[in-house]
Amino acid sequence: MPTYVRTDKCDGCKGQDKTACMYICPHDLMALDKDGSATGHAMKAWNQEPEQCWECYSCVKICPQNAIEVRHYADIVPLGGSVQPLRGSDSIMWTIKFRNGTMKRFKFPIRTTAEGSIDPYGNKPMPKIADLGAPGVFTKEMMGGYRAGRPDELIRR
Ligand code: SF4
Ligand code: SF4
Repeated sequence: MPTYVRTDKCDGCKGQDKTACMYICPHDLMALDKDGSATGHAMKAWNQEPEQCWECYSCVKICPQNAIEVRHYADIVPLGGSVQPLRGSDSIMWTIKFRNGTMKRFKFPIRTTAEGSIDPYGNKPMPKIADLGAPGVFTKEMMGGYRAGRPDELIRR
């Protein structure tokens, strides 16, 4: 489900030709409605092709006004719930709101590396193929744990 812009928060990146959300969207979906002719909201950004949005959250994270939110698929995030990141200089705080009012927050360090580089393990040890059989790994068949499915357990045969 697509992103949408909170017009009460968006400041059009202060009138720059290419806003932060336009710059970051890998699908070129975000646009700035300079004169308001497209949306009725001048100098506000909008997602011009919502059905093409793949919910990568890049625009949500980069927006300096925290003005972009996401409408999720109802089977993942029931109506009334939300998942919203707030980017700091060295971490991202995710706020998860449940529709019963419960709220949870998770903070993760930003592990962005210099352009053209990658650090997939982030100081964690490299995985070892021998560990695949260790307890706690999903391929391990254990009493009460995960195991391969059996044809006789299929609901539709
Ligand atoms: S990045 Fe945020 S503040 Fe800037 S134009 Fe996009 S929605 Fe508006
Ligand atoms: S969530 Fe990703 S694909 Fe969708 S508008 Fe934002 S940057 Fe573009």
